Amino acid sequence: MDFSYSVKVEGLRTQVQDFMEAHIIPRIPEWNKDVANGSFPPSFMEDLKSLARQQGLWNLFLPGLRSEEPGTRLTNLEYAPLAEIMGRISWASEVFNCNAPDTGNMELLHMFASPEQYDQWLAPLLNGEIRSAFAMTEPHTASSDASNIQTRIEKDGDQYVISGRKWWITNAAHPGCRLLIVMGKTDPGAEPYRQQSMVLVPIDAPGVTVLRNLTVMNHHHPEGHCEIIFDGVRVPCQNLLGEEGSGFALAQARLGPGRIHHCMRSIGAAELALEMMTRRSQERQTFGRFLHEHGAVAEWISRSRIEIEQARLLVLKTAWLIDEKGAKAARKEISMIKALVPLLHTTVIDRAIQAFGAMGVSPDTPLADHWTWGRALRFADGPDEVHHRAVARMEVKESEAYASVLNDYLTPYEAD
Ligand SMILES: Cc1cc2nc3c(=O)[nH]c(=O)nc-3n(C[C@H](O)[C@H](O)[C@H](O)COP(=O)(O)OP(=O)(O)OC[C@H]3O[C@@H](n4cnc5c(N)ncnc54)[C@H](O)[C@@H]3O)c2cc1C
Repeated sequence: MDFSYSVKVEGLRTQVQDFMEAHIIPRIPEWNKDVANGSFPPSFMEDLKSLARQQGLWNLFLPGLRSEEPGTRLTNLEYAPLAEIMGRISWASEVFNCNAPDTGNMELLHMFASPEQYDQWLAPLLNGEIRSAFAMTEPHTASSDASNIQTRIEKDGDQYVISGRKWWITNAAHPGCRLLIVMGKTDPGAEPYRQQSMVLVPIDAPGVTVLRNLTVMNHHHPEGHCEIIFDGVRVPCQNLLGEEGSGFALAQARLGPGRIHHCMRSIGAAELALEMMTRRSQERQTFGRFLHEHGAVAEWISRSRIEIEQARLLVLKTAWLIDEKGAKAARKEISMIKALVPLLHTTVIDRAIQAFGAMGVSPDTPLADHWTWGRALRFADGPDEVHHRAVARMEVKESEAYASVLNDYLTPYEAD
Protein backbone atom coordinates (compact mmCIF):
# COMPACT_ATOMS: atom_id res chain seq x y z
CA MET A 1 0.00 0.00 0.00
CA ASP A 2 1.40 3.35 -1.03
CA PHE A 3 -0.78 6.28 -0.08
CA SER A 4 1.50 9.08 -1.23
CA TYR A 5 -0.31 11.30 -3.73
CA SER A 6 0.76 10.72 -7.33
CA VAL A 7 1.84 13.59 -9.59
CA LYS A 8 -1.59 13.43 -11.23
CA VAL A 9 -3.36 13.68 -7.84
CA GLU A 10 -1.09 16.51 -6.66
CA GLY A 11 -2.00 18.38 -9.85
CA LEU A 12 -5.72 17.82 -9.26
CA ARG A 13 -5.42 18.83 -5.60
CA THR A 14 -3.85 22.11 -6.64
CA GLN A 15 -6.55 22.61 -9.25
CA VAL A 16 -9.42 21.93 -6.79
CA GLN A 17 -7.77 24.07 -4.10
CA ASP A 18 -7.26 26.95 -6.56
CA PHE A 19 -10.87 26.63 -7.70
CA MET A 20 -12.10 26.73 -4.10
CA GLU A 21 -9.99 29.78 -3.35
CA ALA A 22 -10.91 31.67 -6.52
CA HIS A 23 -14.60 30.83 -6.88
CA ILE A 24 -16.13 29.14 -3.83
CA ILE A 25 -14.64 30.61 -0.65
CA PRO A 26 -15.29 34.22 -1.77
CA ARG A 27 -18.97 33.32 -2.30
CA ILE A 28 -19.63 32.02 1.24
CA PRO A 29 -21.29 35.31 2.34
CA GLU A 30 -23.45 35.36 -0.81
CA TRP A 31 -24.47 31.73 -0.29
CA ASN A 32 -25.44 32.45 3.32
CA LYS A 33 -27.39 35.56 2.34
CA ASP A 34 -29.23 33.90 -0.56
CA VAL A 35 -30.19 30.88 1.52
CA ALA A 36 -31.35 33.06 4.41
CA ASN A 37 -33.54 34.93 1.91
CA GLY A 38 -35.02 31.68 0.61
CA SER A 39 -33.16 31.81 -2.70
CA PHE A 40 -31.78 28.33 -3.37
CA PRO A 41 -29.76 27.28 -5.22
CA PRO A 42 -27.93 30.62 -5.24
CA SER A 43 -27.85 32.43 -8.58
CA PHE A 44 -24.11 31.71 -9.08
CA MET A 45 -24.39 27.92 -8.74
CA GLU A 46 -25.00 27.07 -12.42
CA ASP A 47 -22.14 29.34 -13.55
CA LEU A 48 -19.75 27.71 -11.10
CA LYS A 49 -20.85 24.24 -12.24
CA SER A 50 -20.12 25.14 -15.89
CA LEU A 51 -16.74 26.53 -14.93
CA ALA A 52 -15.82 23.43 -12.92
CA ARG A 53 -16.88 21.22 -15.82
CA GLN A 54 -14.85 23.26 -18.32
CA GLN A 55 -11.80 22.77 -16.08
CA GLY A 56 -12.28 19.00 -15.95
CA LEU A 57 -13.36 19.06 -12.31
CA TRP A 58 -16.59 17.13 -12.87
CA ASN A 59 -17.96 13.77 -11.69
CA LEU A 60 -14.61 13.01 -10.07
CA PHE A 61 -16.19 10.38 -7.79
CA LEU A 62 -17.12 7.75 -10.38
CA PRO A 63 -14.32 5.26 -11.16
CA GLY A 64 -16.49 3.39 -13.68
CA LEU A 65 -17.15 6.47 -15.81
CA ARG A 66 -16.99 5.54 -19.51
CA SER A 67 -15.03 7.60 -22.02
CA GLU A 68 -18.19 9.01 -23.64
CA GLU A 69 -19.60 10.07 -20.25
CA PRO A 70 -18.89 13.56 -18.86
CA GLY A 71 -16.23 13.83 -16.18
CA THR A 72 -12.78 12.82 -15.08
CA ARG A 73 -12.40 9.14 -14.26
CA LEU A 74 -10.50 8.68 -11.02
CA THR A 75 -10.04 5.77 -8.65
CA ASN A 76 -11.49 6.06 -5.14
CA LEU A 77 -7.94 6.51 -3.85
CA GLU A 78 -7.36 9.40 -6.26
CA TYR A 79 -10.70 11.00 -5.45
CA ALA A 80 -10.26 10.86 -1.64
CA PRO A 81 -7.96 13.90 -1.23
CA LEU A 82 -10.15 15.93 -3.59
CA ALA A 83 -13.32 15.14 -1.64
CA GLU A 84 -11.43 16.15 1.47
CA ILE A 85 -10.80 19.62 0.03
CA MET A 86 -14.47 19.93 -1.01
CA GLY A 87 -15.58 18.89 2.51
CA ARG A 88 -14.23 22.13 3.99
CA ILE A 89 -17.34 23.93 2.73
CA SER A 90 -20.67 22.20 3.16
CA TRP A 91 -22.06 23.11 -0.28
CA ALA A 92 -18.86 22.94 -2.36
CA SER A 93 -19.18 19.39 -3.71
CA GLU A 94 -22.32 20.23 -5.72
CA VAL A 95 -20.23 22.62 -7.81
CA PHE A 96 -18.22 19.59 -9.00
CA ASN A 97 -21.33 17.35 -9.34
CA CYS A 98 -19.90 15.30 -6.49
CA ASN A 99 -22.57 15.83 -3.81
CA ALA A 100 -24.51 13.25 -1.84
CA PRO A 101 -26.96 11.70 -2.37
CA ASP A 102 -26.70 12.28 -6.13
CA THR A 103 -23.29 10.55 -6.19
CA GLY A 104 -24.63 7.35 -4.60
CA ASN A 105 -27.68 7.46 -6.86
CA MET A 106 -25.53 7.94 -9.97
CA GLU A 107 -23.37 5.00 -8.92
CA LEU A 108 -26.43 2.85 -8.43
CA LEU A 109 -27.95 3.84 -11.78
CA HIS A 110 -24.58 3.38 -13.46
CA MET A 111 -24.56 -0.22 -12.30
CA PHE A 112 -28.21 -1.18 -12.70
CA ALA A 113 -30.19 1.25 -14.91
CA SER A 114 -31.85 -0.10 -18.06
CA PRO A 115 -31.03 1.87 -21.26
CA GLU A 116 -34.34 3.79 -20.93
CA GLN A 117 -33.68 4.56 -17.25
CA TYR A 118 -30.18 5.68 -18.22
CA ASP A 119 -31.47 8.17 -20.77
CA GLN A 120 -34.28 9.48 -18.59
CA TRP A 121 -32.42 9.81 -15.28
CA LEU A 122 -28.71 9.03 -15.31
CA ALA A 123 -27.72 11.14 -18.32
CA PRO A 124 -29.23 14.36 -16.85
CA LEU A 125 -27.74 13.53 -13.43
CA LEU A 126 -24.27 13.09 -14.92
CA ASN A 127 -24.74 16.45 -16.62
CA GLY A 128 -25.81 18.09 -13.35
CA GLU A 129 -29.14 19.10 -14.95
CA ILE A 130 -31.33 17.45 -12.30
CA ARG A 131 -30.95 16.34 -8.67
CA SER A 132 -32.20 13.16 -6.99
CA ALA A 133 -32.98 11.63 -3.61
CA PHE A 134 -32.85 8.19 -2.04
CA ALA A 135 -35.92 7.25 0.02
CA MET A 136 -35.52 4.40 2.45
CA THR A 137 -35.94 5.59 6.07
CA GLU A 138 -39.45 5.59 7.56
CA PRO A 139 -40.75 7.43 10.64
CA HIS A 140 -42.62 4.46 12.05
CA THR A 141 -40.04 1.68 11.51
CA ALA A 142 -36.57 1.24 12.97
CA SER A 143 -34.90 1.84 9.65
CA SER A 144 -31.32 1.03 10.63
CA ASP A 145 -32.47 -2.52 9.90
CA ALA A 146 -33.49 -2.26 6.24
CA SER A 147 -35.49 -5.48 6.48
CA ASN A 148 -38.02 -3.53 8.61
CA ILE A 149 -39.02 -1.18 5.76
CA GLN A 150 -42.82 -1.23 5.39
CA THR A 151 -43.58 0.89 2.30
CA ARG A 152 -45.50 -1.29 -0.17
CA ILE A 153 -44.69 -1.54 -3.86
CA GLU A 154 -47.49 -3.65 -5.35
CA LYS A 155 -47.83 -4.77 -8.93
CA ASP A 156 -51.10 -3.86 -10.63
CA GLY A 157 -51.08 -4.85 -14.31
CA ASP A 158 -48.19 -3.06 -15.95
CA GLN A 159 -47.75 -0.61 -13.07
CA TYR A 160 -46.38 -0.57 -9.54
CA VAL A 161 -48.45 1.14 -6.84
CA ILE A 162 -46.43 2.67 -3.99
CA SER A 163 -47.87 3.46 -0.56
CA GLY A 164 -45.91 4.51 2.49
CA ARG A 165 -44.25 7.29 4.39
CA LYS A 166 -40.56 8.23 4.36
CA TRP A 167 -38.53 10.83 6.19
CA TRP A 168 -35.06 12.38 6.26
CA ILE A 169 -34.96 12.18 2.48
CA THR A 170 -31.98 14.35 1.59
CA ASN A 171 -32.22 16.59 -1.49
CA ALA A 172 -36.00 16.28 -1.84
CA ALA A 173 -36.45 20.04 -1.22
CA HIS A 174 -33.86 20.95 -3.86
CA PRO A 175 -35.76 22.76 -6.65
CA GLY A 176 -33.82 20.62 -9.15
CA CYS A 177 -34.86 17.32 -7.58
CA ARG A 178 -36.76 15.22 -10.13
CA LEU A 179 -36.14 11.63 -9.06
CA LEU A 180 -36.82 9.62 -5.91
CA ILE A 181 -35.26 6.17 -5.70
CA VAL A 182 -37.76 4.47 -3.39
CA MET A 183 -37.16 1.29 -1.42
CA GLY A 184 -40.19 -0.77 -0.40
CA LYS A 185 -41.60 -4.27 -0.13
CA THR A 186 -42.74 -6.04 -3.28
CA ASP A 187 -43.11 -9.42 -1.56
CA PRO A 188 -43.63 -9.41 2.24
CA GLY A 189 -43.86 -13.23 2.13
CA ALA A 190 -40.34 -13.77 0.74
CA GLU A 191 -37.32 -14.44 2.94
CA PRO A 192 -36.32 -11.20 4.76
CA TYR A 193 -33.61 -9.98 2.39
CA ARG A 194 -35.62 -10.68 -0.79
CA GLN A 195 -38.76 -8.76 0.19
CA GLN A 196 -37.65 -5.28 -0.94
CA SER A 197 -37.23 -3.68 -4.32
CA MET A 198 -36.34 -0.22 -5.59
CA VAL A 199 -38.41 1.82 -8.01
CA LEU A 200 -37.71 5.11 -9.74
CA VAL A 201 -40.42 7.64 -8.91
CA PRO A 202 -40.67 11.12 -10.45
CA ILE A 203 -41.06 13.55 -7.56
CA ASP A 204 -44.01 15.17 -9.34
CA ALA A 205 -45.93 11.89 -9.76
CA PRO A 206 -49.55 12.13 -8.52
CA GLY A 207 -49.75 10.89 -4.91
CA VAL A 208 -46.26 12.10 -3.89
CA THR A 209 -46.53 14.77 -1.17
CA VAL A 210 -43.42 16.40 0.26
CA LEU A 211 -44.81 17.23 3.71
CA ARG A 212 -41.96 19.17 5.27
CA ASN A 213 -38.24 19.80 5.30
CA LEU A 214 -36.97 18.65 8.71
CA THR A 215 -34.39 20.87 10.36
CA VAL A 216 -31.26 19.15 11.72
CA MET A 217 -30.88 20.20 15.35
CA ASN A 218 -32.82 23.32 14.33
CA HIS A 219 -30.48 24.00 11.41
CA HIS A 220 -32.23 24.59 8.09
CA HIS A 221 -30.69 22.80 5.11
CA PRO A 222 -32.13 24.23 1.89
CA GLU A 223 -31.66 21.06 -0.17
CA GLY A 224 -33.85 19.38 2.45
CA HIS A 225 -34.17 16.29 4.57
CA CYS A 226 -37.83 15.74 3.85
CA GLU A 227 -40.79 13.80 5.09
CA ILE A 228 -42.72 12.42 2.12
CA ILE A 229 -46.02 10.59 1.73
CA PHE A 230 -46.57 8.12 -1.10
CA ASP A 231 -50.30 7.67 -1.46
CA GLY A 232 -51.08 5.10 -4.15
CA VAL A 233 -48.36 6.48 -6.44
CA ARG A 234 -48.35 4.69 -9.82
CA VAL A 235 -45.28 4.18 -11.99
CA PRO A 236 -44.81 1.87 -15.00
CA CYS A 237 -43.21 -1.53 -14.25
CA GLN A 238 -40.22 -0.41 -16.35
CA ASN A 239 -39.34 1.90 -13.41
CA LEU A 240 -38.21 -1.08 -11.34
CA LEU A 241 -34.45 -0.82 -10.74
CA GLY A 242 -32.74 -4.20 -11.11
CA GLU A 243 -34.93 -7.18 -10.31
CA GLU A 244 -37.85 -7.60 -7.95
CA GLY A 245 -36.50 -8.59 -4.52
CA SER A 246 -33.06 -7.08 -5.16
CA GLY A 247 -33.63 -3.91 -3.08
CA PHE A 248 -31.47 -4.97 -0.18
CA ALA A 249 -28.56 -5.95 -2.41
CA LEU A 250 -28.88 -2.66 -4.32
CA ALA A 251 -28.85 -0.68 -1.06
CA GLN A 252 -25.63 -2.42 -0.06
CA ALA A 253 -24.06 -1.72 -3.46
CA ARG A 254 -25.08 1.94 -3.23
CA LEU A 255 -23.72 2.57 0.21
CA GLY A 256 -20.16 1.23 -0.18
CA PRO A 257 -18.54 4.10 -2.07
CA GLY A 258 -21.19 6.58 -0.80
CA ARG A 259 -20.08 6.04 2.77
CA ILE A 260 -16.46 6.60 1.91
CA HIS A 261 -17.26 9.94 0.22
CA HIS A 262 -18.94 11.20 3.41
CA CYS A 263 -15.86 10.16 5.40
CA MET A 264 -13.48 11.93 3.04
CA ARG A 265 -15.46 15.16 3.30
CA SER A 266 -15.61 14.80 7.09
CA ILE A 267 -11.84 14.63 7.25
CA GLY A 268 -11.74 17.90 5.31
CA ALA A 269 -14.13 19.52 7.80
CA ALA A 270 -12.05 18.25 10.73
CA GLU A 271 -8.83 19.45 9.11
CA LEU A 272 -10.32 22.93 8.67
CA ALA A 273 -11.41 22.96 12.33
CA LEU A 274 -7.91 21.97 13.47
CA GLU A 275 -6.35 24.71 11.34
CA MET A 276 -8.78 27.28 12.73
CA MET A 277 -8.23 26.13 16.32
CA THR A 278 -4.44 26.25 15.92
CA ARG A 279 -4.47 29.78 14.48
CA ARG A 280 -6.97 31.08 17.02
CA SER A 281 -4.91 29.70 19.89
CA GLN A 282 -1.94 31.78 18.67
CA GLU A 283 -4.02 34.97 18.54
CA ARG A 284 -5.67 35.04 21.97
CA GLN A 285 -4.13 35.15 25.40
CA THR A 286 -5.53 34.35 28.83
CA PHE A 287 -3.70 34.46 32.15
CA GLY A 288 -0.58 35.79 30.45
CA ARG A 289 -0.26 33.01 27.89
CA PHE A 290 -1.41 32.25 24.40
CA LEU A 291 -4.13 29.60 24.39
CA HIS A 292 -1.85 27.01 22.80
CA GLU A 293 0.53 27.47 25.72
CA HIS A 294 -2.08 26.09 28.08
CA GLY A 295 -1.65 22.32 28.36
CA ALA A 296 -5.31 21.54 27.75
CA VAL A 297 -5.43 23.43 24.46
CA ALA A 298 -2.07 22.01 23.34
CA GLU A 299 -3.47 18.55 23.92
CA TRP A 300 -6.62 19.31 21.86
CA ILE A 301 -4.37 20.36 18.98
CA SER A 302 -2.13 17.34 19.32
CA ARG A 303 -4.94 14.82 19.73
CA SER A 304 -6.79 16.29 16.77
CA ARG A 305 -3.74 16.00 14.51
CA ILE A 306 -3.10 12.40 15.62
CA GLU A 307 -6.73 11.36 15.20
CA ILE A 308 -7.11 13.02 11.79
CA GLU A 309 -3.95 11.32 10.50
CA GLN A 310 -5.17 7.93 11.76
CA ALA A 311 -8.61 8.38 10.24
CA ARG A 312 -7.26 9.63 6.91
CA LEU A 313 -5.00 6.60 6.59
CA LEU A 314 -7.88 4.24 7.29
CA VAL A 315 -10.05 6.04 4.75
CA LEU A 316 -7.27 5.84 2.15
CA LYS A 317 -6.78 2.16 2.89
CA THR A 318 -10.51 1.59 2.44
CA ALA A 319 -10.51 3.51 -0.85
CA TRP A 320 -7.54 1.48 -2.03
CA LEU A 321 -9.23 -1.78 -1.04
CA ILE A 322 -12.43 -0.84 -2.91
CA ASP A 323 -10.33 -0.04 -6.00
CA GLU A 324 -8.29 -3.22 -5.78
CA LYS A 325 -10.81 -5.80 -4.56
CA GLY A 326 -14.28 -4.22 -4.79
CA ALA A 327 -16.71 -2.83 -2.20
CA LYS A 328 -17.71 -6.29 -0.98
CA ALA A 329 -14.17 -7.19 0.02
CA ALA A 330 -13.87 -3.83 1.79
CA ARG A 331 -17.05 -4.28 3.86
CA LYS A 332 -15.24 -4.34 7.17
CA GLU A 333 -13.12 -1.29 6.41
CA ILE A 334 -16.18 0.63 5.12
CA SER A 335 -18.01 -0.05 8.40
CA MET A 336 -14.86 0.82 10.38
CA ILE A 337 -14.50 4.25 8.78
CA LYS A 338 -18.24 4.91 8.98
CA ALA A 339 -18.17 4.18 12.73
CA LEU A 340 -14.98 6.17 13.26
CA VAL A 341 -14.99 9.26 11.08
CA PRO A 342 -18.30 11.02 11.93
CA LEU A 343 -17.30 10.77 15.60
CA LEU A 344 -13.86 12.19 14.79
CA HIS A 345 -15.60 14.94 12.82
CA THR A 346 -17.66 16.08 15.83
CA THR A 347 -14.85 15.52 18.36
CA VAL A 348 -12.32 17.72 16.55
CA ILE A 349 -14.88 20.40 15.73
CA ASP A 350 -16.11 20.39 19.32
CA ARG A 351 -12.56 21.11 20.52
CA ALA A 352 -12.25 23.94 17.99
CA ILE A 353 -15.59 25.37 19.16
CA GLN A 354 -14.29 25.35 22.73
CA ALA A 355 -11.02 27.00 21.71
CA PHE A 356 -12.96 29.78 19.98
CA GLY A 357 -14.90 30.59 23.13
CA ALA A 358 -18.48 31.75 22.60
CA MET A 359 -17.69 32.69 19.02
CA GLY A 360 -17.47 28.95 18.34
CA VAL A 361 -21.22 28.53 18.70
CA SER A 362 -22.04 31.73 16.80
CA PRO A 363 -22.95 31.88 13.11
CA ASP A 364 -19.66 33.77 12.46
CA THR A 365 -17.57 30.63 11.95
CA PRO A 366 -18.43 27.48 9.96
CA LEU A 367 -17.86 25.39 13.10
CA ALA A 368 -21.45 25.17 14.36
CA ASP A 369 -22.75 24.11 10.92
CA HIS A 370 -19.98 21.55 10.48
CA TRP A 371 -20.54 20.12 13.98
CA THR A 372 -24.28 19.77 13.39
CA TRP A 373 -23.71 17.96 10.13
CA GLY A 374 -21.13 15.67 11.74
CA ARG A 375 -23.65 14.78 14.44
CA ALA A 376 -26.24 13.90 11.79
CA LEU A 377 -23.69 11.75 9.96
CA ARG A 378 -23.65 9.44 12.97
CA PHE A 379 -27.10 8.33 11.71
CA ALA A 380 -27.01 8.93 7.97
CA ASP A 381 -26.07 5.76 6.05
CA GLY A 382 -26.61 3.74 9.24
CA PRO A 383 -25.95 4.60 12.89
CA ASP A 384 -22.53 4.00 14.48
CA GLU A 385 -23.77 0.99 16.43
CA VAL A 386 -24.87 -0.88 13.31
CA HIS A 387 -21.38 -0.46 11.85
CA HIS A 388 -19.76 -1.58 15.11
CA ARG A 389 -22.06 -4.60 15.04
CA ALA A 390 -20.94 -5.40 11.49
CA VAL A 391 -17.24 -5.06 12.37
CA ALA A 392 -17.61 -7.18 15.51
CA ARG A 393 -19.49 -9.92 13.63
CA MET A 394 -16.74 -10.12 11.02
CA GLU A 395 -14.05 -10.19 13.73
CA VAL A 396 -15.87 -12.97 15.56
CA LYS A 397 -16.22 -14.99 12.35
CA GLU A 398 -12.56 -14.48 11.43
CA SER A 399 -11.49 -15.60 14.91
CA GLU A 400 -12.24 -19.20 13.91
CA ALA A 401 -9.05 -19.11 11.83
CA TYR A 402 -6.79 -18.54 14.83
CA ALA A 403 -8.84 -20.14 17.62
CA SER A 404 -6.68 -23.24 17.98
CA VAL A 405 -3.36 -21.35 18.04
CA LEU A 406 -4.63 -19.15 20.86
CA ASN A 407 -4.74 -22.11 23.20
CA ASP A 408 -0.93 -22.23 23.05
CA TYR A 409 -0.81 -18.80 24.67
CA LEU A 410 -2.72 -20.03 27.69
CA THR A 411 -0.89 -21.26 30.76
CA PRO A 412 -3.58 -22.75 32.98
CA TYR A 413 -2.65 -22.85 36.61
CA GLU A 414 -1.55 -26.28 37.70
CA ALA A 415 -1.17 -27.01 41.35
CA ASP A 416 2.20 -28.59 42.28
C1 LIG B 1 -29.36 14.49 8.20
C2 LIG B 1 -29.84 13.12 7.85
C3 LIG B 1 -29.94 12.76 6.51
C4 LIG B 1 -30.46 11.51 6.16
N1 LIG B 1 -30.62 11.21 4.82
C5 LIG B 1 -31.30 10.09 4.48
C6 LIG B 1 -31.66 9.85 3.11
O1 LIG B 1 -31.34 10.62 2.20
N2 LIG B 1 -32.40 8.74 2.83
C7 LIG B 1 -32.78 7.87 3.78
O2 LIG B 1 -33.45 6.89 3.46
N3 LIG B 1 -32.45 8.06 5.09
C8 LIG B 1 -31.73 9.15 5.45
N4 LIG B 1 -31.42 9.39 6.77
C9 LIG B 1 -31.89 8.46 7.80
C10 LIG B 1 -30.83 7.55 8.38
O3 LIG B 1 -30.31 6.70 7.40
C11 LIG B 1 -31.51 6.78 9.54
O4 LIG B 1 -31.81 7.74 10.55
C12 LIG B 1 -30.66 5.68 10.10
O5 LIG B 1 -30.55 4.61 9.19
C13 LIG B 1 -31.25 5.14 11.43
O6 LIG B 1 -32.57 4.76 11.29
P1 LIG B 1 -33.62 5.29 12.37
O7 LIG B 1 -33.52 6.75 12.47
O8 LIG B 1 -34.97 4.71 12.04
O9 LIG B 1 -33.12 4.71 13.78
P2 LIG B 1 -33.54 3.33 14.47
O10 LIG B 1 -33.44 2.21 13.49
O11 LIG B 1 -34.84 3.53 15.17
O12 LIG B 1 -32.37 3.15 15.53
C14 LIG B 1 -32.29 3.99 16.70
C15 LIG B 1 -31.00 3.76 17.41
O13 LIG B 1 -30.92 2.41 17.83
C16 LIG B 1 -29.57 2.02 17.96
N5 LIG B 1 -29.34 0.77 17.23
C17 LIG B 1 -29.91 0.35 16.09
N6 LIG B 1 -29.42 -0.86 15.74
C18 LIG B 1 -28.52 -1.20 16.68
C19 LIG B 1 -27.65 -2.30 16.89
N7 LIG B 1 -27.59 -3.32 16.01
N8 LIG B 1 -26.86 -2.31 17.98
C20 LIG B 1 -26.89 -1.28 18.89
N9 LIG B 1 -27.68 -0.21 18.74
C21 LIG B 1 -28.47 -0.16 17.65
C22 LIG B 1 -28.72 3.15 17.34
O14 LIG B 1 -28.17 3.94 18.36
C23 LIG B 1 -29.75 3.94 16.56
O15 LIG B 1 -29.39 5.30 16.43
C24 LIG B 1 -30.84 10.59 7.16
C25 LIG B 1 -30.70 10.94 8.51
C26 LIG B 1 -30.21 12.19 8.87
C27 LIG B 1 -30.11 12.56 10.31
